[in-house]
Formats: sequence, structure tokens, C-alpha cells
Amino acid sequence: MDASLDPQQQAAVLAPRGPVCVLAGAGTGKTRTITRRIAHLVGDGHVRASQVLAVTFTSRAAGEMRTRLRSLGISGQGNAVQALTFHAAAMRHLRYFWPQAIGDNQWELLDNKFPVVSRAARAAGAPTTTESLRDLISEIEWAKGSLIGPSEYPAAIYKSSRESPLPAEQVALVYERYEQAKVSPSGDQLLDFDDLLLMTRAILDDHPVIAEEFRDRYRCFVVDEYQDVTPAQQALLNAWVGPRDDLTVVGDANQTIYSFTGATPGYLLDFSRRFPDATVVRLERDYRSTPQVVQLANSVIGAARGRIAGTRLQLIGQRDPGPEPDFSEHPDEATEAKAVARAIKRLMNSGVPGSEIAILYRVNAQSEVHEQALTAAGIPYQVRGGEAFFSRSEVRQAMRAVNQTAQRDDLPAEAQTLTILRAILVPLGLTDEAPAGAQARERWESLRALVTMTEDMLNDVPDLTLTDLARELAARAEARHPPTVQGVTLSSLHAAKGLEWDAVFLVGLVDGSMPISQAIKAGDAAIEEERRLLYVGVTRAREHLQLSWALSRNEGGRGTRRRSRFVVNLVPDDSPASKIAEPKRTRSGPKCRVCGKPLLGKTASLLGRCERCPSDLDEGLLLALKEWRSGRAKEQKVPAYVVFSDNTLIAIAEQQPGDVAALVAIPGIGQKKLDSYGEDVLTLVRNGKPAGQK
Ligand code: ATP
Ligand code: MG
Repeated sequence: MDASLDPQQQAAVLAPRGPVCVLAGAGTGKTRTITRRIAHLVGDGHVRASQVLAVTFTSRAAGEMRTRLRSLGISGQGNAVQALTFHAAAMRHLRYFWPQAIGDNQWELLDNKFPVVSRAARAAGAPTTTESLRDLISEIEWAKGSLIGPSEYPAAIYKSSRESPLPAEQVALVYERYEQAKVSPSGDQLLDFDDLLLMTRAILDDHPVIAEEFRDRYRCFVVDEYQDVTPAQQALLNAWVGPRDDLTVVGDANQTIYSFTGATPGYLLDFSRRFPDATVVRLERDYRSTPQVVQLANSVIGAARGRIAGTRLQLIGQRDPGPEPDFSEHPDEATEAKAVARAIKRLMNSGVPGSEIAILYRVNAQSEVHEQALTAAGIPYQVRGGEAFFSRSEVRQAMRAVNQTAQRDDLPAEAQTLTILRAILVPLGLTDEAPAGAQARERWESLRALVTMTEDMLNDVPDLTLTDLARELAARAEARHPPTVQGVTLSSLHAAKGLEWDAVFLVGLVDGSMPISQAIKAGDAAIEEERRLLYVGVTRAREHLQLSWALSRNEGGRGTRRRSRFVVNLVPDDSPASKIAEPKRTRSGPKCRVCGKPLLGKTASLLGRCERCPSDLDEGLLLALKEWRSGRAKEQKVPAYVVFSDNTLIAIAEQQPGDVAALVAIPGIGQKKLDSYGEDVLTLVRNGKPAGQK
């Protein structure tokens, strides 16, 4: 047999046809085991490739499974194994069986629920703002995934610990109207993604002839990531399998991270009760990560509590030792992102390809500051599982509004850019407090990120006008064309499930983001799910793992945030990040490079020293920089501070950056400034003369 399988993996691969359950931690080879099992069953003639249906969680994972099967030589020849998501499989079956089951009435896929839910909300007297509709949609999806109908919804909410975005009766009414609206008077139907599952299951349950034909066609079922199956998916799986038992499932209850969609690890944990003669295999050897990463993963999940936690196994790292995971604390998010970008640059210089590096965060809005830092450092990237910051609809809307407002001639002369920006963003959803509901929260986070970005610009250019702001935003959006080369992956933790990279950066690890504030409000069960999400993140790394957080959102902020409760006890004593006392800390962050005291205020953090501390300034260089600046300002017909503020020039003259990386590390120097002035400044620093000047 295959030498690259351990004895437990082999037991699962070689088990005779019938129920098999692999219960194992991250990186232990579950996905590898099921592809080998399929190859074995097909290769030994137990089942034909076309009779196998393998389902997994995302279409990306399904694609990967198909690739692995092809490389094992059991795909192709026109009768490949079907490796699909639940939804894709259901859609295929429905297309095929619909005419026979339903007859003449047609169906069409409803892939945009917004207009239908919007009409339903209006009819039910519910709010119809974008955020409210998004939350209603999530709520309906949760109910359908949990097999809860409109009339059962209120009771289900009262029973569960779930917070409904509107009064439960009102949600139920919207849900009911929504379901009615999808059926036309003639009987034609619109089906949403959940209906695909429900409808296929209903057809198989209600039509014995169809069920028989189906079961003749598909004889062997395999499910990956089984810990995150919803009751609706399980019901469909039951209908597929019918009275048979040729079912292999693999999963890790400690990676259950989709409870909010109705998913539950109960089916995985109860598998051997349902199939008492099942072959149950537990895997403990972690083949993915170094012992250093594995140890950290064990500590993260070791602190878990509750029923699911009782099922965890200690992972045993199989790979050669690698670097210790790194922890770092930063004064603000921009500094954190720049440090991450610098570390990525170093890894890439040492030979790690960008495509083998990922930055993972809790909510998609956190990508913005990292997109900016990577852009400034010239590192290509792509955003997965969410849209890049400047492509998001709320950000585009906000930019349009800023542009329109900037063109008005009735703005107060002493216009406060930040005040106007806030006024523009309020109707788009900027509130003081984060709103309830995941979708509304994402939108709010994007708008907050715009405010932060502007505050940072003002830090550099105090007289920034709204027109300057509009121009700067457009330039930043422009600078972020999708890369043509395979770059660094930016992804939410949820979308990273099942995947792996050589180097992983887990960022933004502060209480309120990880665990997310809604989870803190909702209580223990929700906090445990956040902990599992961090475990998923840690276990994505093969070799390099860096965990970081920032004590303020903004540069010069008050540092009121706290490192995530999950990392407090993980930081080793000799890590620089542990030097800052926990948990009571008045101020931390960057220290004055002259006296070593914490830096207070924007100017100090820009200079990297207290304003009163003696400066190691190169006066000659500062003079040369100022001369050069007034030349450029005249050329461009702009005030001098638009080129660089005084403080930025002082910081350059003090820190004397030797290369691009050191230059962009100075607060306030982004891609645009780098493009326009980088070369000049570096030449000046090098020989005290502007570029091209003898
Ligand atoms: P997750 O829970 O994150 O989905 P998993 O249990 O599905 O993880 P895999 O993705 O199958 O784990 O395997 C993790 C890594 O270890 C892969 O790179 C895989 O090729 C490798 N691997 C698995 N088993 C072995 C083995 N017996 N020998 C060598 N490498 C292995
Ligand atoms: Mg897997």
C-alpha cells in the first residue's frame, strides 16, 4: 500500500465498503485520506468512479479534491468521480429529476435575493435598508439551513441563544412573504440556494421511482468537513444514502466555525451511534505543520471548554522543527500592517513564494490596512472570500459621495475635512457604536476604515481638503489594480478553512475582533466558536506563523485595546510582545529612541522620539530636503506641506532611510508619495543632493 499513509490513515483507506468516520484534528491528513480511499475503492473495482459522490465545503476545496483525484489517476475518461459542494450537487440532481418529478412548471435559480426580500420586508412593514435586508437574508438562510419554517421561527428563536435582528414575529412574517413571492400564480418557481437542497431532498423522499434511479446511479458517498454540516444538508445526505450505509465522513469538531449558518458537529460526533458497525479512525499525527506551530495549536484548543472541546485530541507534529511562532504588539493598525508587509518582504527575499503566504483576519474590513501596506511595499496580493476594500459597494458609494460633496461651492471656508467626511458617511451607515448583525457590521467597519485612513492622512497633511481627500482615495484605489502574478493571499479566517500555506500571519488579534464583540455579548458558546476559529487560523501554517495586534486603531491613538484573551497566555516570556505588562497597561507601543519612554502624541510617534528629547537630526540634510520640497511644491503649484509635512521631513532627516522599505516605514509615506518622491528622497539621503543635480 501507499508508503505515504500512516497505519491509522491506511485503516480508513482500506476499510471495506460501508460506514467510515475519521475524527481528527487539523493537518492530520483527513482530506488526503478520503481522496486515497476513493482511489482505493475505485482502483480495486469496488465501485465505479462515476458512482462516487464526494461533497465538500467550498467550490475551491471541491476543485482541489478533483485535482488530487486526477493525480491519483482515477479521474478523466469521461466517468470521473463527482467532487462538488452540496449546493452544486443538488443543482445537478434537480436539473435532471425536475421534469419527471414536477412536470411542466419551470424553475429558475434566484441568485440575488435582495429584490425579493426587499419586497417581502416592505409588505411586512420591516426596514428595507441594505444592512437590514442583508441581516434578514442571513436570518432566513439560517432558518432554512436549520429546517425551520416561517411559522416555527419565533419559537425557535426563543429557544435558542440567537439574537434576531428584528422582533422574531416580524422576521417570520418577512420570511413567509419571501417564500410566497418565489412561487408564481402559474406554479413556476424561483429557487434560492437553500431551496436546491430542500427541493432535491423532497423529490427523493416523495418519488420512490426517482429515488431508485438515483441510488442506482450513486453508490458511494464521501463528505469532507463534516463538522460543519447543516440540518438541511444532512437531510439531503440522508435522502441520497437512503437505506444504505456506504458513507465515509471526515471532520474535526474543534474546527466547527459555521454555527451561525445552522451547522452543527452533532452529526459527526453521533456518527458511530447512528452506524454502530462503522469503522472509526482517529488521527493524531500532524503532517502539515512544524512541532512549534503544532504546540501552539494544542495550547489554543487546550483552553477550550464545553462539549465540543471534550472531543479534541493532542496533535503530534511530524515535520522537522521550524521557527518559533512570533508574537508582536503594535501601537496602531497601520504600524502593524507595515510590520507584516516588511516581514513578508523578508520571507519573499529568503525564497518563500508570495503564493505560499497568507494574511488572515476575522472580518473582511480588516483587509484594508493590509492592502494598503502591501501596495506601498510593492507586494502583489489577492483578497479571497470577500471583496478588496476599494471594490466594496459601501466604499464606492462613499467615494462617490466625497467627490460630489467636494465639487460643491457652498462648503464652509474653514471646512473641517473630517467633520464633513463623517457627515457624508452617517447616511451610509456610520454610527458611533458597531451595529448588530454581521452584514451591517462589515459595512460599518469599512466606513470606519475610511475615517481612520483620513485621520492618518490629516496627521501627515493637517490642511487636507475634501478635494485632496477625494484625489488621494482615487489614487489609492487606482494603485491597487488586481495583480497579474500570484500574490500573497488575504483572507478571512472562515474562508481559509481546509487550506494551507508556508507562512501565515494572523492579524488584528485584539478583544472585540478576536473574539468579535458580538460573540463577547452573546456569551460562552459564541466565544468558544471564536476560539475554534483562531485554532483554524493557527493550523493553516506549515512553517512560519506570526500573530499580531495593535493597541489603537489610529496612529497616535490612546491605546485602549487589549490583546486577544486567547493570546494572553500564549506569548512566551522572552517574546518582545510580552515585555508590556498585562493586563493593566496604561500606555504601550513605540518607545522614544532617545529616552526609551512611550511616545505620546502624533508628532512624537512620527518622529520616533519625544518632541523634547535631543534630536539626532542631520541639519544639512533637513535643509537640503526643505529646499528640494519648495522646488517640487513650486513645480506642482501646491503648498509645500502637500509634498511632505515638516514633521515628515524631520523624520526623514533623523532616520535617514537607506531604502524603500525604510522610507515607507516612516508614518505618512504611502505608495503615492513613494512613486512621486521616493527616488528623490533616497538620493538626497544618500548624497545630500537632489536626483539629477550635480
Ligand atoms: P484540515 O483539518 O485543515 O482540513 P486535513 O486533516 O484535511 O486538515 P490534509 O490537508 O489532508 O489534512 O493534510 C495536511 C498536509 O499533510 C497535506 O499537505 C498533506 O499532503 C500532508 N500529509 C497528510 N498525510 C500525510 C502522510 N501520511 N505523509 C506525509 N504527508 C502527509
Ligand atoms: Mg481537510
